[in-house]
Amino acid sequence: MPGGIKADVKTYQMFINGEWVTSQSAKTFPVYDPSTEEVIAQVPDANAEDVNRAVTAAKTAFEEGPWGSTTAQERGRVLFRMAEKVRQNLPALAELECRNTGKPIVEAEYDLTDVATCFEYYGGLATKITGHVNPVPDNALSLSLREPVGVAGQIIPWNYPMLMAAWKLAPAIAAGCTCVLKPAEQTPLTALEFAQHLADCGLPPGVINIVTGFGETCGAPLVQHPDVNKIAFTGSAAVGKIIVKQAADTVKRVTLELGGKSPNIFFADADFEAAIDGALFGVFINQGEVCSAGSRILVQKSIYKNFVDAMTEKAKKIKLGPPLERETKMGPLVSKEQYERVNEYLKIGKQEAKLASGGGRPDKFAKGYYVQPTIFYDVKNSDRIAREEIFGPVAAVIPFDDEKDAMKIANDSPYGLAAAVWTRDIFKAMRAVKALRAGIVWVNHMQPTYVEAPWGGFKQSGFGRELGPWGIEEYLETKQVHINLNEAPIGWY
Ligand code: ADP
Ligand code: MG
Repeated sequence: MPGGIKADVKTYQMFINGEWVTSQSAKTFPVYDPSTEEVIAQVPDANAEDVNRAVTAAKTAFEEGPWGSTTAQERGRVLFRMAEKVRQNLPALAELECRNTGKPIVEAEYDLTDVATCFEYYGGLATKITGHVNPVPDNALSLSLREPVGVAGQIIPWNYPMLMAAWKLAPAIAAGCTCVLKPAEQTPLTALEFAQHLADCGLPPGVINIVTGFGETCGAPLVQHPDVNKIAFTGSAAVGKIIVKQAADTVKRVTLELGGKSPNIFFADADFEAAIDGALFGVFINQGEVCSAGSRILVQKSIYKNFVDAMTEKAKKIKLGPPLERETKMGPLVSKEQYERVNEYLKIGKQEAKLASGGGRPDKFAKGYYVQPTIFYDVKNSDRIAREEIFGPVAAVIPFDDEKDAMKIANDSPYGLAAAVWTRDIFKAMRAVKALRAGIVWVNHMQPTYVEAPWGGFKQSGFGRELGPWGIEEYLETKQVHINLNEAPIGWY
């Protein structure tokens, strides 16, 4: 077979209006296993026509189908059933996620558990969406009602495919919206597999549609479509900026969760062992393909040298390996494109700063997009490796003098997604919490994320918040209702 394609490669269809369909062009594109570089599936290459079909289905389901009259209780139960399906199919979904993204299987299992938890959370929240009575100074009853925004277009990245799908779908369903979800072209498989269960969960045709395709040919038409009321996007800052522009003509509601260059800050008084662990975990979890990665590691000068040495020693022991092996702590990067992008930054880093460890593909892998956990030190905050999001296992260690210096460096970034600070001094910690310009601040930890708490960024890391009650806000409109209680004429004329 040409291009190393195996005969058992599964050809998927996509899910529109409750049916499995090919793209109207009949074209497909390949999906890879990044640990073997082999094609593992073919999926439809959706274009504007296919997007239109999916949006029409979502609009019809919203305006004319049974979905518009479902109760909050029913929508809650749908979400609980979705969670149940995830739990029942967790081993298979986690394995597929692992094969397609290259992330370690143990992490994929955690992700899928979080997917179920997310559906459950919004299943519960569906019945807690309430309006208000407004105390207007008149003989009237003034209400504010919360209503679904309508058709939601949802564009997601490849680092946490099924989890990002859940973060988008769950609040939308709870709110009563209908959805057109576009997975990343690199990782569409788990969403497609999961879609098999949607009808069983009680979702009528057209409520959730999944279109598979590329950014410019499938994502862009979704953003521009006049019948899409809202776009929720997670991805790169560069594409986020394009989306805001594309959404302008139809005055579309947009929420963006973009990249980061998040500082992980270590004061001299931090618990040293915990700090080293936290620095590595913050930047190397999921191969560093994390929007909130602690990729700028700020270390106080008095512990700087020991810190770099200890980090380096421990980083060298991180087990890179086939993602399906349970001992693996880091798998390959998701794609050839990402591998090349990260390698480009490794070259830049070698010119800008000093390399403590890593810096390329380990010799033991002839195939697969593996990159060693890489630590650069003596990095200046003005260096490209300290300013630009790399989205790979590359740490930039930067020394600082004192608290004031640390906060200045930490906030000197176009991004503001996350930050972490490590110290045993409660006053210092609390001052840092206040000073840091970031949507998420961790103290003596980095990365834990909970569906109950808000997620999103300051500055160029985007706007809008996902998760918790904040996440559903973005799928609701507010309607003011004024009910006149005077039966007499207004009496103006
Ligand atoms: P990366 O470059 O790391 O792949 P992207 O921001 O390009 O990150 O991708 C995130 C998501 O955005 C993917 O689903 C991708 O297909 C989509 N996307 C990329 N370009 C566009 C675009 N111009 N319009 C809409 N969606 C896009
Ligand atoms: Mg891209």
